[in-house]
Amino acid sequence: MIIAKTVAQVREQTAKWKADGLTVGLVPTMGYLHEGHASLVDKAVSECDRVVVSDFVNPTQFGPNEDLEAYPRDFEHDCALLEKHGADMVFYPDVSEMYFPDAATYVEILSDMPKMLCGKTRPIHFRGVCTVVAKLFNIVTPDKAYFGQKDAQQLAIIRRMARDMSYGIEIVGCPIIRESDGLAKSSRNTYLNADERKAATVLYRAVTLGKRLIQEGERGADKVTAEMKKLIEAEPLARIDYVSAADGVTMEPVDKLDDGVLVALAVYIGRTRLIDNFTVGE
Ligand code: AMP
Repeated sequence: MIIAKTVAQVREQTAKWKADGLTVGLVPTMGYLHEGHASLVDKAVSECDRVVVSDFVNPTQFGPNEDLEAYPRDFEHDCALLEKHGADMVFYPDVSEMYFPDAATYVEILSDMPKMLCGKTRPIHFRGVCTVVAKLFNIVTPDKAYFGQKDAQQLAIIRRMARDMSYGIEIVGCPIIRESDGLAKSSRNTYLNADERKAATVLYRAVTLGKRLIQEGERGADKVTAEMKKLIEAEPLARIDYVSAADGVTMEPVDKLDDGVLVALAVYIGRTRLIDNFTVGE
């Protein structure tokens, strides 16, 4: 597996692959890789001739009081996982390689889409995500790019950004990979102490409850999210950021839980903010 630290190195290699008629898949990550990331790599390897994984903790998507400094990192472990799953190149740039000191250009969706759900408490987050993903698209020029449904709003926003900016890159969404007790795998799970780790299953319990109520015929968004909230509020270590139903494409709030509606939640367990979601009818 090639370890590329510079933009020039990535460009040179992907240009060679493309000249040989090979297709290229991109999996953007912030490192500290787990089976959730691995599932994206597996999918990319199965669909593309060559797979590039970016491993970059992107500072522009963290707010001033968020966990940029504390964000976990383990590049050696990441490389071992990526080798095992058949990635061809990992792009591991320094911040200075990705951002000029006076960088002032951003890619931002100006509709309400990035202000909904996670955008309410993370106002600059999706601008940072769109900017770094746009840069990665320009650097790697992939045919396909892979994103997890775990970050459902991010996936919807990237789809919109890729469409609006005419990237011509196929955006592939991949299902949520979970621990055996249902907790969605996340690099941030490492912040949880033993008691918090137990309490963190409340997100999946809420997802399961929401799905069950819908299966039983309940279609009122308020009714279902209220029951999910009640369940989460019974967990002393949990504090709700939001539990919301949104249009799966625009992220606008909805009243009725038709197929395709996203039911998403963000919950603090202690100081760690965790997210989960499901799509009605899936
Ligand atoms: P991150 O490193 O957290 O920025 O995540 C990189 C990519 O992996 C994103 O597209 C995430 O949605 C995806 N991802 C993270 N955790 C999971 C998971 N548990 N299941 C599926 N995809 C995931």
